Amino acid sequence: MADTHLNYIDGRWVPAADGDTFLDTNPARPDEVLGEFQRSGPADVDAAVQAAARAQVEWRHTPAPLRGEIVARATRMLVERKPELAKGITREMGKVLVDSGYDVQGAITSGEYMAGEGRRMFGDTVPSGLSNRMAMTVREPVGVVGIITPWNLPMLMPAWKLFPALVCGNTVVVKPAEDTPLTAVRLFEILEEAGVPPGVANLVTGFGPEAGQPLVGHPDIDMISFTGSQSVGRRIATSAGGELKHVSLEMGGKNALVVLDDADIEEAVAGALWGGFSTAGQRCTASSRIVVDRRVADDVVDGLVEGIRGLVVGDPLDADTNVGPLINGTQLERVHSYTQVGIGEGAELVVGGKKLQDEFGGGYFYAPTLFDNASSDMRIAQEEIFGPTVTVIRVDGYDDAISVANGTRYGLSAAVYTRDTARALRAVSELQAGLVYLNAPTIGSEIHLPFGGVKDTGNGHRESGPSAIEQFTEIKTVFLDYSGTLQRAHIDEPTKESG
Ligand code: NAP
Ligand code: MG
Repeated sequence: MADTHLNYIDGRWVPAADGDTFLDTNPARPDEVLGEFQRSGPADVDAAVQAAARAQVEWRHTPAPLRGEIVARATRMLVERKPELAKGITREMGKVLVDSGYDVQGAITSGEYMAGEGRRMFGDTVPSGLSNRMAMTVREPVGVVGIITPWNLPMLMPAWKLFPALVCGNTVVVKPAEDTPLTAVRLFEILEEAGVPPGVANLVTGFGPEAGQPLVGHPDIDMISFTGSQSVGRRIATSAGGELKHVSLEMGGKNALVVLDDADIEEAVAGALWGGFSTAGQRCTASSRIVVDRRVADDVVDGLVEGIRGLVVGDPLDADTNVGPLINGTQLERVHSYTQVGIGEGAELVVGGKKLQDEFGGGYFYAPTLFDNASSDMRIAQEEIFGPTVTVIRVDGYDDAISVANGTRYGLSAAVYTRDTARALRAVSELQAGLVYLNAPTIGSEIHLPFGGVKDTGNGHRESGPSAIEQFTEIKTVFLDYSGTLQRAHIDEPTKESG
């Protein structure tokens, strides 16, 4: 019998109000049940939001350095438990151990950075236009934050949002992805042990429409921080935006890795393989389009084919494996349907294009897949596939490369391989993306730098680093007048003209 895991509401582990549960399974071996989880509904979400709203009063007045200390304690536990947590992520989500280690490490570096933020959280002190008057800004929490996360980075994603939100004095309700509730439970066990007070951080597991939607619509939620697909993000923006809640959205990408004719081909191929196929391509920043100058395209494609043939598909717990299974059966079918779409559109299927379930005892494995000679307007070059499918688009020179790279509605990450400094700098300025990498693949962000995308990838926010503090705080502008008399701004200011 699988263990039963509960919601965490108001400092207690509790079942869903109506007693419904769902099972979490290992995508490499769908028969292996990892646990039974609460299938939360509106009543559970309401209880969690109310607990968070009650806890808000005390938590917002807890000194930020103390809030940071609790996050620091949780971070130390993440460090101690990193190997077992990574293993758990691999079993729950299917990515190989090195990728799961990255997932935990991302949470750790976020915790380290944000714990210190408890002693910074800078405001500005600026001169006033009037005499004997001080002007400054201070940061305050937004309030009660609803956090909704995807399954592909099941530890990093909630942590990236939770740690800054908590240090800034917000209380939170987290709805993790239905495919990865166990990693979220592990994170909350750590938060509890680290001393996060009851009600400050709450967890409701379950499904998007049943638990996510009521969270977005709850009147006591002040902000929604969402990472996931564009279709769900749009819906959240419409619903939460109508209620004038803060809404921060991080959505998908169709990221281009551009290889110019003077690139180091070996380096570019290594980057494309890592960017395209790590985590089986299930990364928002995956290098899913290789935009390559026709003059070097044969070499690049040959290198990719050789590299793909060398990728070991298999049990993600095995240290030699490069590519594990996809997250679930639906995603496997979706990825395979895009192979059919690509063939139908006239792109050339070079390797892969096969489901490997039978070879791997029913696990959701898919062969690393490469399309060549695609055109930029094909669906396989426009739509996020979120699997181990990489599409090569051959272009004629620099201008064509940039125009193809920019030719999607997404704008998350872009990479350019070149040895020409002038073209590199032009590309950095001309690529429409929130992240640009020079001579490196499109994946692999760092916590102290902003993360997010332009165009339809986001709605103007950035996560991580100082940007996260911007996101999770309201600014209060403060004037301190010690002149002892009434001073009127813009009227009594002693400007040169007015004397
Ligand atoms: P998703 O289907 O949009 O789900 C994301 C989260 O939203 C899940 O917790 C989901 O619950 C929940 N949800 C679904 N419907 C909802 C609704 N009507 N109201 C409120 N919440 C709802 O995305 P996913 O398949 O988990 O993740 C893959 C996507 O995430 C890709 O598009 C990828 O590019 C994107 N992503 C973006 C970034 C970034 O930072 N830009 C990072 C990682 C991933 P369920 O689990 O029950 O569906
Ligand atoms: Mg699962």
